[in-house]
Amino acid sequence: MKIFPQSIRWRVQLWYVLLLAVIVTSLLVAFHRNQREIKYQAVDRELTDPITRILPHVENRPQPPLRNRRLPPPGPGMGPEDDFERPPNRPQPGRAEREEVLEEITSELVARGIFLIHWNRRGEVSFASENVPEGNRGRPGGDSEGGEKIIKRTVKGFREMVHTGGPGGSLILGKSIVPLEKELSSLAVRLALVGVAIVAGGFLVGWFLIGWSLKPIGKISGAAHRIAAGDLSERIEVGNPGSELGQLAGVLNETFERLERSFEHQVRFTADASHEMRTPISVILAKSQFALNRERSPEKYRECLRTCLESAQHMRALTEALLELSKVDAGKFVLRTSEGNLAGLVREVVHMIEPLAEEKRVTIDSSLEELTAGYDDQKIRQVLLNLLGNAVKYQREGGSIQITLTSDGGEIVLMVADNGPGIAPENLPHLFERFYRVDRARKREGRGGTGLGLAITKAIVEGHRGRISVSSELGKGTVFEVRLPK
Ligand code: ADP
Repeated sequence: MKIFPQSIRWRVQLWYVLLLAVIVTSLLVAFHRNQREIKYQAVDRELTDPITRILPHVENRPQPPLRNRRLPPPGPGMGPEDDFERPPNRPQPGRAEREEVLEEITSELVARGIFLIHWNRRGEVSFASENVPEGNRGRPGGDSEGGEKIIKRTVKGFREMVHTGGPGGSLILGKSIVPLEKELSSLAVRLALVGVAIVAGGFLVGWFLIGWSLKPIGKISGAAHRIAAGDLSERIEVGNPGSELGQLAGVLNETFERLERSFEHQVRFTADASHEMRTPISVILAKSQFALNRERSPEKYRECLRTCLESAQHMRALTEALLELSKVDAGKFVLRTSEGNLAGLVREVVHMIEPLAEEKRVTIDSSLEELTAGYDDQKIRQVLLNLLGNAVKYQREGGSIQITLTSDGGEIVLMVADNGPGIAPENLPHLFERFYRVDRARKREGRGGTGLGLAITKAIVEGHRGRISVSSELGKGTVFEVRLPK
């Protein structure tokens, strides 16, 4: 079993809640500590303030002004601010008066829950309020060392201020901190509840937020599943194309588009190829059955064999063309480029085609500029053979063909023009498609071309980073133009 769940939603949620809990806890703990400090400081002040008031009454030292002491009524001409001021040259109060004031302060402190004990220099308790708690109220040690000082301490639920080292002995003022601690622990409970509420709220908000932001991923994976199951026409709905997931969905849609196109292309290509093969195979089967059925004349046998040979030649041309195209599709269409004289190559091909042209009484005129360029000799020869071969094949008796080789800027321009029957405008856009033939009748007879020649020509030209285009007019002729970079 895995400690962390695999789901992105749960992982993000877990980390988010963990982080939120740590932040909220640290803030609330810091707040509680701060509150505790403030409350303890208040208690400490409450305990420290009376020390200066008490000391003069337990020691024999000059008295500081006391605000709530009962003083003699102010004399004539004295301002209200003088009410609590004792003139410096006043005589020191007597023992009885000191005790009386001490009693008064003590009762005031007792009313506020503060106790006090005083030890004289001999270590005897000289004064103690009636609310001194039972137990360890021993005299604090070390009062003679380090001079006069006030020590804070917490003993058995009491906060105490210990004044030691003074001339009059030691004094302790203390107060129970039980109510304060109760208050602090109830604050802690309230803060813990607030913390739990914040984290729970954060969990819910996070759950919806993460769910909302991951929703497109669910859509993407759903669409990808349906596509993987075979529905290649399915696309991912792109809600926000600017977002990261929207961009991903866009890229995936493009990929699916290409995949669908290439899949369709593959299916069509296989169907077309098998269909093309079927015709010559049927011809061979029919002719051989005809020859074997019964005894035939030598003339009939010869005719059957000729037809079989033609069909076999057609099949060979077809398989070779298919092999060539499969190399283009597989990206294994390698060009062996070398510098050569293009005009020389054109002349060679014209020479090869001439016998065919002569059969049809077709004349070939060429106007060739002597140009050298880097090209694959075999492949460009194939281009020239296809274009010239078509020009002769689809030309009517006695027609003419014009070949020109020129340079135009940085390009080599090769034109093959004929004054044959031409191609209808609706057929022109499909001319370079695989298995496309204008004259379907020839296909049925199993005689015409493969319909792959121009597709291969285009692949070769584009392999040389060139372009091929066609323009034609019915009854006037056709012009193929090849542009290759120099
Ligand atoms: P095929 O093997 O049928 O010649 P191509 O791909 O070479 O296949 O040519 C495709 C089709 O284009 C041909 O079937 C033909 O109908 C048409 N075509 C090609 N060249 C010419 C031309 N010079 N004149 C008229 N039609 C042409």
